[in-house]
Amino acid sequence: MSSKILEIENLTVSFDGFKAINNLNFSMDEGELRVVIGPNGAGKTTFMDIITGKTKPTEGTVTFKGRNLRPYKEYQIARMGIGRKFQTPRVYQKLTPRQNLELSCAQHKNVFSSLLGRSAPGERRTVGGLLETVGLVAKADIPAELLSHGEKQRLEIGMLVAQSPDLLLVDEPVAGLTDEETENVGSLLLALAESHSIMVIEHDMEFVRQIAKKVTVLHQGSVLCEGTMDEVQNDPRVIEVYLGHQEDE
Ligand code: ADP
Ligand code: MG
Repeated sequence: MSSKILEIENLTVSFDGFKAINNLNFSMDEGELRVVIGPNGAGKTTFMDIITGKTKPTEGTVTFKGRNLRPYKEYQIARMGIGRKFQTPRVYQKLTPRQNLELSCAQHKNVFSSLLGRSAPGERRTVGGLLETVGLVAKADIPAELLSHGEKQRLEIGMLVAQSPDLLLVDEPVAGLTDEETENVGSLLLALAESHSIMVIEHDMEFVRQIAKKVTVLHQGSVLCEGTMDEVQNDPRVIEVYLGHQEDE
């Protein structure tokens, strides 16, 4: 049996009495790529806010690599190895992709430099490798503001990976992207999934089908069902609350 990277038990979050997360139970294996879907307002972003420590649960526990996260602040949780990518890219526009990645690697190095004592050439190789991974070698030295939205998303995913997180949380990475860019981001996440545990929140069904192995459907702050894409798509409860609604549009 594989070990759990994340375990969430009986989680509830109330905002003035409204339960955005309602007695939610969830777990993810080390090395897994999990997609979390659900209609607007289901609690997906709040769920990520709790895992990262941005929001504290009203009840219940989040356990990451066997440690209860309750006592830790957001920056401490990030250092423990949970990296988060927000919906809108947060890259330095005036810097090049190479410089953006160098900064992320340097930040990581500051924390561990005395332990690892990495040399500069080693770092450059790392940045070069990241540029290849995110498919931005050809655009490595132009200002990031000239990148397309999809390229910026990939760059930011690269910046996240530069910090060597054990668990990557990615919130709606393909919102507003063209079909081609969506597919590129999907391929990138699949490549990263070979060596990382990743949770992706997403709305775009085409994209979910491209990357998903196991899907968790959230509804009204709880897990409605879990399974393969085919299983959840054919679940009458899911059709009712989510997919059925989409077909009406
Ligand atoms: P999703 O990402 O699935 O669309 P959210 O997690 O953003 O859903 O929101 C879930 C519910 O919780 C929504 O009804 C939202 O209005 C509510 N909510 C989220 N954050 C807050 C907050 N800080 N205060 C009050 N209500 C909130
Ligand atoms: Mg959201």
